[in-house]
Amino acid sequence: MKGDIERHKISVLKAYAEAALINLEPTISQIEKLLEENTEASVTYAALECRLAIERICYERLRLAHDYISHDDLRKWQPRDIVKTLIQEVDEHAATTLTISIAPEVPSENTPEGFKALDWKPLGTQIGFNPNKFGKLWNGLANLALHIEIPTSKDTTVKQYGDMQAIASKVKQALAEIKQISESTLMSTGMGEEVSFECVCGSKNKRRLELLKDGQTINCTNPDCDESYVYVQSDMSFGRRTFEIVCRACEASRDIPKRMVEKLRTDQHIHFDCEGCRETIYVSWRPMQAQRT
Ligand SMILES: [Zn+2]
Ligand SMILES: [Zn+2]
Repeated sequence: MKGDIERHKISVLKAYAEAALINLEPTISQIEKLLEENTEASVTYAALECRLAIERICYERLRLAHDYISHDDLRKWQPRDIVKTLIQEVDEHAATTLTISIAPEVPSENTPEGFKALDWKPLGTQIGFNPNKFGKLWNGLANLALHIEIPTSKDTTVKQYGDMQAIASKVKQALAEIKQISESTLMSTGMGEEVSFECVCGSKNKRRLELLKDGQTINCTNPDCDESYVYVQSDMSFGRRTFEIVCRACEASRDIPKRMVEKLRTDQHIHFDCEGCRETIYVSWRPMQAQRT
């Protein structure tokens, strides 16, 4: 139990330390200035600034979460999908509005009342957002401002810019959202019980216990490491995922990271020297034919 309290403290302090990192004020005043200019070029540029701000808001959350998730665990790249993955795998409150408070001492009794009686001081507030709404704005801004209409016939004119009024209205919607987020005084990396293990590469991998699923594959968070692990819920362990290679010359065997093989394209191979006889061993994917006779 003491260990858990320690871990909570670390999460809170970390969230606090990262608090002031995202400064949206210069972007907001830039977008406002461009809207005031009110030209086709300026609103188009404002739309681009809004898109970049949305990306920054989402990617900054990802950066904070990188202790808990590997780059290779992200399957989709749109800002919306990144935030959704964070909610599923790192912190279910990654996009929720919440205030974190801290008390100077531990409660005298371990009951809800005991906790309530403490002298809580707010550390800061994270302003949440709806990832789907953000995703729609991000796409909408591009459709209106960053592309022009495709001509449907020879008589249609190909314009230099999109529809200025429509762009300005979408920019105002996005700006309202960005302004709200800018009132955040911290970004939380979430709290909750953590489990960790050390990868063979030496990196410490951490995960939120409640979000781990039995049989889930976890890629090492070190971007230069090919190791991956499978989570076994029954004994809360992480098993290294490997592929056994047996040398045909000397029968020495070794385990290579399974991900090294999974990443291989069909026209690629990996090779290494056998530890027993120094002979070079090649590994590649080959089609295999099977037939029932
Ligand atoms: Zn590793
Ligand atoms: Zn050998």
